[in-house]
Amino acid sequence: MKLGAPSVTKMLSFEQALSEIEARLADANLVPAIEVVPLGQARGRILAEDVNADRDYPPFNRSTRDGFAVRSQDAGPANSVLTLDGEVRAGEYFKAEVGAGHCVAIMTGAPLPSGTDAVVMIEHTRTEGNRVEIERPVTSFENVVRQGSECQAGKHILPKGRRLRAGEIGLLASVGKGNVAVYVRPRVALIPTGDEVVPIDRKPEWYQVRNSNSAMLAAVVASAGGIPWEIGIGPDQKEALRILIERSLEADLLLLSGGVSMGKYDLVEDVLEDLGAEFYFRSVAIRPGKPLVFGRVQGRFFFGLPGNPVSGFVTCNLFARPAIGVLMGNRFERPGFLRARLAKPVRHKTGLTTFMPARIETRDAEPVVTLVGWQGSGDLVGVAEANGFLVVHPGQSSPEAGDWVDVMPMES
Ligand code: AMP
Ligand code: MG
Repeated sequence: MKLGAPSVTKMLSFEQALSEIEARLADANLVPAIEVVPLGQARGRILAEDVNADRDYPPFNRSTRDGFAVRSQDAGPANSVLTLDGEVRAGEYFKAEVGAGHCVAIMTGAPLPSGTDAVVMIEHTRTEGNRVEIERPVTSFENVVRQGSECQAGKHILPKGRRLRAGEIGLLASVGKGNVAVYVRPRVALIPTGDEVVPIDRKPEWYQVRNSNSAMLAAVVASAGGIPWEIGIGPDQKEALRILIERSLEADLLLLSGGVSMGKYDLVEDVLEDLGAEFYFRSVAIRPGKPLVFGRVQGRFFFGLPGNPVSGFVTCNLFARPAIGVLMGNRFERPGFLRARLAKPVRHKTGLTTFMPARIETRDAEPVVTLVGWQGSGDLVGVAEANGFLVVHPGQSSPEAGDWVDVMPMES
């Protein structure tokens, strides 16, 4: 430990770190403000109202086939012959009552005429003039979705707190919610640090690097639902860092990048400490991304992410993403793992949860995971190729080709 550095607390496991973040956010009980947005802008947002069905769904007994609406008792025996009264299309209704021995031609999506209770598919009929022969017997409500069978008027269909994806958007549209109450998106300050880091529109000297982290972290923040707020690059100098961090306290969450390792010029933690920060953890037993800091300063949660681009990418996705979710009204969504077969053997250092950028694909009807890039921790070329991570757990021995392993698909 370098002289004067804040004391290092116990290193947490991956799961412990997630639980710590979840618990600290829950304790803070930060309820976001609510705003009403047009449905077209609601994707990815968290619903802030309970939504009920405005009417039965379907609203009428609806045909699911093109054919003939019949009284099932008339068409019970095979080869019964019925009299055709007319037709009903989707978007219309049949105005008369259909009597015994009669039927009506019906199209998919049309309401069943009064008196009928089933639809015979056109393929199972023969028509001659106004006589329709029903070749197969039919049972009551065959080829019909009954009124209210999906849900009944007044029923609670979407709870407050639900993330709105395409399916929920469709459901909201079907009940006429053109505008919907959602929680306000949190503003997330991105504070890159490092004397060697220069803006991307400037030609770096041979000993400098472009600030790729802000753009990358902004993309993760936006896909998580937050509003990225890019703050200027902080030098490895205490006073300047302090000014930047103080300015960023207007945000709902601070993502600092770089300057959290053990080097002489890793000053982010010192500055946060000077500003009165509370540190909940300062390292996590994961690779990449071990020097990950989480805490709260002047009421704002912050993550100190490693400056290394891949480490920053991994830790932002694993830890900051679910935190942003909570700040926008969602429950804490832990990253989920799936299983895939490993294409090639992997060497793994035990004791750490390892996340290796990888491609997850289906081959011969099986999910297969292949590592990408050279797996160096600064390898953005590999990250760009990856659509997820291979996950190797602390106690697990190095997996062999063909082993079933955990993978984590990555959100874009
Ligand atoms: P640090 O965590 O500050 O020790 O930085 C670790 C590595 O990440 C160093 O090689 C830095 O040059 C690099 N790095 C830090 N910040 C950025 C950034 N914003 N964009 C790209 N690379 C960075
Ligand atoms: Mg640095």
